[in-house]
Amino acid sequence: MIVMKFGGSSVANAERIRHVAHIVKGRLDRKPALVLSAMGDTTDHILEAADTALSKGQAAAGKIEDLHRGTIRELGLGASVQDEIEPLLEELRKLLTGISLIRELTGRTKDYLVSFGERLSVRIVAAYFNAIHINAQALDAWDAGLRSDSCFSAAEPDEASWERIPGVLKPLIERGILPVITGFIAKDGEGNITTLGRGGSDLSAAIIAAACGAEEVQVWKDVDGILTADPRIVKNAKPVETVTYDEAAELAYFGAQVLHPRAMLPCMKTKTPVLVKNSYNIDAPGTRIVAALEKKNSPVRAITSRKNVILVDIVSTRMLGQYGFLEGVFSVFARHQLSVDMVATSEVSISLTLDAPRSLEPLKKDLGRIASVDIRTGKAIVTIVGDVRRSSEILARAFRTCEILGAPVQMVSQGASKVNISFIVDDTEADDVVRALHGDFFDALPPPGTLSNRSGT
Ligand code: ASP
Ligand code: MG
Repeated sequence: MIVMKFGGSSVANAERIRHVAHIVKGRLDRKPALVLSAMGDTTDHILEAADTALSKGQAAAGKIEDLHRGTIRELGLGASVQDEIEPLLEELRKLLTGISLIRELTGRTKDYLVSFGERLSVRIVAAYFNAIHINAQALDAWDAGLRSDSCFSAAEPDEASWERIPGVLKPLIERGILPVITGFIAKDGEGNITTLGRGGSDLSAAIIAAACGAEEVQVWKDVDGILTADPRIVKNAKPVETVTYDEAAELAYFGAQVLHPRAMLPCMKTKTPVLVKNSYNIDAPGTRIVAALEKKNSPVRAITSRKNVILVDIVSTRMLGQYGFLEGVFSVFARHQLSVDMVATSEVSISLTLDAPRSLEPLKKDLGRIASVDIRTGKAIVTIVGDVRRSSEILARAFRTCEILGAPVQMVSQGASKVNISFIVDDTEADDVVRALHGDFFDALPPPGTLSNRSGT
């Protein structure tokens, strides 16, 4: 069995839904279960409708109704799916009217409200599968065994879901039925509808796959997986074949198109592989996220950079071994509401980075009371995500590249996660550094386990 998850843009209209059916059809032998988001931007449209109801006292669901009715028409689906959709649309209208009258929206009602997006999409998609003679059944998450706590808008699946989900899905799949399950939503112990947080259908898919002991969970997006670098900087950036859960989590923070780290937790627990695939480029292999990697040629998975960073060097003016210095420094940043990104410390000094666009004179003045301060703008953070077991090799090769380029490294930090090595160079040098690192790590691979300037003895 596999779980296939399609996000909002993959089921945005009739044409996209036909394409999803084409993708699934080619994989029926692997016994899939589908997890879907709401069509297109439906979740946002519902939230906008709620805002209008609250602020203007008007209940307007026209956009949402038109999209779903229009899609049913375009897919040529019959009356039976209309009989399922119309009562949902009516319930949604009534709810919006209620909100427009009482001008109040609680967390509980908001989750109930946005749940209509996913409930509508699975019914339409399942009806389309049946129309093309693939036996499918639409399931609301709770009917597929997925229940949660009552933390509205950020609910956590409960422990018993791990047993309930396979109890429902496995018999269905054994009977040759394709389950089409709502992502994003669940129900709490009292029967209230909850949501798992924006983008939560990835988490739904992950827990369903993990609970069923699926071979893998496929997350279908509109990119070729994770890339080795930003293609705007490195022309020959390529999709990364495999990464570990830890590396993927680190890359997610840099905006890579992967799962939110929270969504990977169920799969990490059971070591279920996650495959990120491009629905616009079916044949591309995509990126596979797994528990552990074989030692491969390149110790590096991907290289990213962030520009316009400010570097702050702080040297204690007090005695060596004094305590409370770090606390003193960080409380100044807290007071100025500045979030610190990278940090490196020695016995008497601290270097750290900020992304602050505003004037730092007040900060400098405050810090000046306890330390001598040097603030430098125009810096960039270059981050290498890769194999912790080979960090010495990565550092050696990266620094040698910087030396050859004449781009001095001004601060270094190996993240607490160990798969992230970050360093600071001048903004103007960052693109060259990223390109040169990419060239070294991905384009001219030396034999594994040796430094590029050593001959293999
Ligand atoms: N439809 C929800 C959202 O837009 C959940 C999801 O797409 O994962 O956030
Ligand atoms: Mg969405």
